[in-house]
Amino acid sequence: MKRIAVFCGSSKGFKKDYAEAAVELGEHFSKKGIGLVYGGGKIGIMGAIADTMIRNKAEVIGVIPGMLKHEEVAHAKISQMIVTRKMSKRKVRISKLVDGYIALPGGFGTLDEIFEALTLGQLGIERKAIGILNTNNFFKHTLLQLDHMVEEGFLKRENRDMIIISDNVEELINKMQAYQAPIVVEVINKVASR
Ligand code: AMP
Repeated sequence: MKRIAVFCGSSKGFKKDYAEAAVELGEHFSKKGIGLVYGGGKIGIMGAIADTMIRNKAEVIGVIPGMLKHEEVAHAKISQMIVTRKMSKRKVRISKLVDGYIALPGGFGTLDEIFEALTLGQLGIERKAIGILNTNNFFKHTLLQLDHMVEEGFLKRENRDMIIISDNVEELINKMQAYQAPIVVEVINKVASR
């Protein structure tokens, strides 16, 4: 994998483990020659992964909407900063740059971004690996909610199973590298019946 988008908190969280996990992922990317594409901020655990990779002279591309760039949050030291006009355009720009996505602990922004990636995968629009770094079992309740959606008939088991989950950085990246996206029959059928 050449580049991976990382979605994660613009906050640090209450436990030091979260920033430490971001640093560990940044170290692993640097070692493996994987570039980071992310929201472009210097705050929270977003800042922690970017700082780590900058220190290692690794590739860091920020994609930030203009409205956030003017705040005191944009990272000044990364390899490249792409500024988009809208939040929605930012996601499209990120998807064009990467081979996969990873969510680390975060809030609304993180969930919004990873679920958009999952929706693209579910529809077969993209076939990229999507991982969750489940530090401290942070995503326990989110994953339980997804299982509930499967049980109640709103989410297909094979789509739930697209998500690659690990609390170990190396295992997560290895699994993502080996990932083969399922063939999305529904989309093929729809296209064929046009
Ligand atoms: P949250 O999880 O709500 O803290 O939002 C973090 C995610 O949303 C990140 O992955 C970013 O892509 C985006 N984001 C939220 N706030 C900012 C910010 N101030 N600067 C850059 N990106 C942000």
